[in-house]
Parts: sequence; structure tokens; C-alpha cells
Amino acid sequence: MSRMTPLTRASTLVLRQRKARLLRGFELPPEILHASLIERFMKCGKSNCRCHGAGPKHGPFFYLNRGFAQGQMQSLLLKSPEQISQARQSVAAYARVLARLDQLSQINHELLRRGEPLVAAVT
Ligand SMILES: [Zn+2]
Repeated sequence: MSRMTPLTRASTLVLRQRKARLLRGFELPPEILHASLIERFMKCGKSNCRCHGAGPKHGPFFYLNRGFAQGQMQSLLLKSPEQISQARQSVAAYARVLARLDQLSQINHELLRRGEPLVAAVT
């Protein structure tokens, strides 16, 4: 793909074309999930275990952390490789949608700055 012109220097027509491309076929992925996938290595409960000394800790363990109201955190331990794989895809799907929304926002911001209507008649 060719390098894109900075938004502030692109013509309004180009901005509208980019916007139309972003909106075309826009669907929410059914697996979308707003959370963080965390990988952790931990010590166990046995004080004589290698993990308490120089040895490696146990893991990795995968957690799906999801923030909600008042800064609270919901943490889910993922137990199977299938769960981990699904969680990875879900988190990636969310990031893709967010990136697309952000691109749309940038274009709308620039159109607004130019005094252009955000919902244009077909050109
Ligand atoms: Zn241990």
C-alpha cells in the first residue's frame, strides 16, 4: 500500500473517499472483547520448591483482565489452549475495531476543522 498523505494536506475528496472505505463493510467481529491478555509466571505454595530460589517460576499462566465500573478489575484465568487462543483473537479484534474508529475520528476531526459537513451527500 502506498504511503498516505497526512490528513491535513489531503483534499476533502480524498478524505471522503478514505472515510467511505473505512465505513464500507464495517462489521463488529462477533468475538470482540475489551480486555487485556496477561501472561504471568508465579511462585507456588511449596517453600522448598525451585521457584522460591534461583529456579524458574511456574507458568506461563494466562489471565484475561477486564476493567469495569469504579476502577474494578475482573480477572479470568484461562485454563485451556483453546481459551487462550480465543481470548487472543478477541482482544486483537477489539484493537482492530478501535484502530478503525480512531481513523474515522481523525478524518471527521479534519472535516470539522475545514467546516465541512460530516455526513455528506453522495458526490
Ligand atoms: Zn514452585
